[in-house]
Amino acid sequence: MKNRIDTSRKKTPWDNQDETNPFETFVKNKYKENYNIKHPKLSETSEAELLNSIVLDKCRYCDGKNIRKYGLSKNGIKRYYCNDCKREFSVTTGTIFQNDKISITEWIEYLLDILYYGSFSLTSRVNKNSINTTIYWTNKLFTLLRDYQDDIVLKKNVYIDEMFYTVRKSDIKTNNGKKLRGISKNQYCIGIWFDNKNVIVKVECLGKPTVETTKAAFINHIEKGSTLIHDDEKSHKVLIKELNLENKSYKSATLKKLNDKKNSLRPINHICDLLRQFLNAHSGFDRENLQDLLNMFSFLMSRPRDRLKKVYIIFEKALTTKATLKYRDLFNSEKSDDN
Ligand SMILES: [Zn+2]
Repeated sequence: MKNRIDTSRKKTPWDNQDETNPFETFVKNKYKENYNIKHPKLSETSEAELLNSIVLDKCRYCDGKNIRKYGLSKNGIKRYYCNDCKREFSVTTGTIFQNDKISITEWIEYLLDILYYGSFSLTSRVNKNSINTTIYWTNKLFTLLRDYQDDIVLKKNVYIDEMFYTVRKSDIKTNNGKKLRGISKNQYCIGIWFDNKNVIVKVECLGKPTVETTKAAFINHIEKGSTLIHDDEKSHKVLIKELNLENKSYKSATLKKLNDKKNSLRPINHICDLLRQFLNAHSGFDRENLQDLLNMFSFLMSRPRDRLKKVYIIFEKALTTKATLKYRDLFNSEKSDDN
């Protein structure tokens, strides 16, 4: 995320030129038209109407119920006043939309792209945003999805597997500054769980999984008495015992000889393939965001399948979650990392 060039996508090479040839004029005008469609003025959308349909019954700052209406903002959004803490607020106060000129129309376009397209730079181009804007919005999405997997409990037939993801040497921090030895220590172990409805993906540890890491990551995410379908990884045994799971394990060596159709672990192998593609498409992200990316993958792969329904879930979460992220803070904190 460092050293990216923040070029405004509103610009064309002919902006300061008094005379342009017919071709330049044509391309310039088409480009600007398209830009304006992607970036509508707040007054041109029905966003105020949408936001005003949400009625607040408590203060965004102190949760006090002693509030009253307080006119409209310059964008036509209802304001409130809290008689307890004596502050003004609106439906976006304290949410990721606070102090942001971001239009909800743009946010929705962004979500539709980011949830399905390959990379962040492609999404930036499609939406005519700078890459920093996309990173900023993506970090907001990360904030909203941070607890997304917490309540998922898998049931019935549960497939599990592990995947190793190589980290860059510069990302590995040791306590005493010594280099970590052995190839497995340079890899994050990602645990992947799937029950044909939902997917749970977590960074378990650096290096090989153990009984402890598997237990810590997954014990609360599987219903007692379910069937566990997996390879013969030893660290899984703890769950079978503690959750009284039915065990269907396959030896990796035997599976390798089978073609894909006969492979009993095919469903989980498919999820692993998709995860690998997803991580490769977003390889520009710092590894400290790995779990955030995994939360996003889990959200993508889990129910509901319909992407418009997913966008609605995010939108609702955005307006009910207390979370603000200032553009300045995000990029300043990165700068200080470089020093
Ligand atoms: Zn208050």
